[in-house]
Amino acid sequence: MKDYYEVLGVDKNASQEEIKKAFRQLAKKYHPDANPGDPTAEARFKEINEAYDVLSDPAKKANYDAYGNPNGPVAGPGPGGGGGGEDPFGRVFEGFGGFPFGDIFGGFGNVFGGGRRDTGPRRGADLELEVEISLEEAFSGTERDVRIPRTEKCPRCDGDGAEPGTKPVTCPACHGTGQVRTTRTTMLGQFVTVTTCGKCGGTGRYVEKPCKECDGTGEVRRTRGVTVKIPPGADSGLRLRLSGQGNAGIRGGAPGDLYVVVFVKPHPVFQRQGDDLIVDRAVSFPLAAIGGKTTLETLEGRVELEIPSGTQPNAILRLRGKGMPRLRQKGRGDLLVRVNVRVPTKLTSREREALKELGKLDGETFNDTRTFFQKLRGAGDQGAK
Ligand SMILES: [Zn+2]
Ligand SMILES: [Zn+2]
Repeated sequence: MKDYYEVLGVDKNASQEEIKKAFRQLAKKYHPDANPGDPTAEARFKEINEAYDVLSDPAKKANYDAYGNPNGPVAGPGPGGGGGGEDPFGRVFEGFGGFPFGDIFGGFGNVFGGGRRDTGPRRGADLELEVEISLEEAFSGTERDVRIPRTEKCPRCDGDGAEPGTKPVTCPACHGTGQVRTTRTTMLGQFVTVTTCGKCGGTGRYVEKPCKECDGTGEVRRTRGVTVKIPPGADSGLRLRLSGQGNAGIRGGAPGDLYVVVFVKPHPVFQRQGDDLIVDRAVSFPLAAIGGKTTLETLEGRVELEIPSGTQPNAILRLRGKGMPRLRQKGRGDLLVRVNVRVPTKLTSREREALKELGKLDGETFNDTRTFFQKLRGAGDQGAK
């Protein structure tokens, strides 16, 4: 078994927050969409998800730390127990810090000429935000209403920065070039220095009466609600692009895009492996031995599960096409049922007799495990010893 801490590149003492952060970075990097047709990335992606499934669940993590196995000292537990989720579903805003909101005047760097003048339209910055969904939502696909703070074209001046009724004019200081030339005559000759125009900040346009709403910048900050459609089969690290939903463009430039990165919360019962789902199911010894039908809870309700006769502990039963939908493709992965054979810890006297009978056929001898009171009450069954 892989070292899950190594897989996520975190320390053994890493906090849940650090584990989550490491997972999110790696999931984005190795998501199949970002590495089409790369089997190494795909294998790595599965590993990362498996490691996160264990390390994000306090119960599994404790078992893994103690026994090197998320299921504890004995393999194959029943489901339940692990209350994985540490925070409620919903939206997490991250990543705004890394995006410039657009440098309104642009290009202060072109002091000695030759540099690019930045007076034309410029595309708005892209924005990114993360959403967390449940496995059930990833299964069926879902929609999320998210709120994004962003810059938009100022509605009062329509983005040109001038009070309604006025227009920006060509800058009188630089005649619209955005640069000012100064000629100095010294003993050594004439020097021409080119600097960014101070009056218009290099834009070549000058607003005499700045718009009251945006202070002449042409853009305003707004928080907008946007509905994001998350397709069935979405996996952690999936980046969805919402074209034109980023920051406003500058000087008539196109707006940027909004990227929504999806993360799927680990599920307490189902473990995901690519498009396949894995679930643990305990069955009784007689059912495993004789074979028969039982039921199984899946993400889409209860299904019938056929247990073949002679099923061994830790056997894997594959239900084809009962796993996750394939992202943007037809078909579904499989549901893998890991069978655990249940050994009862409490027996009624009838069960005990039946099991003794069975064991005797196998040549076994038994301890009398009844309590003192059971022995008193069960006066009739000494003969079965
Ligand atoms: Zn304005
Ligand atoms: Zn100017």
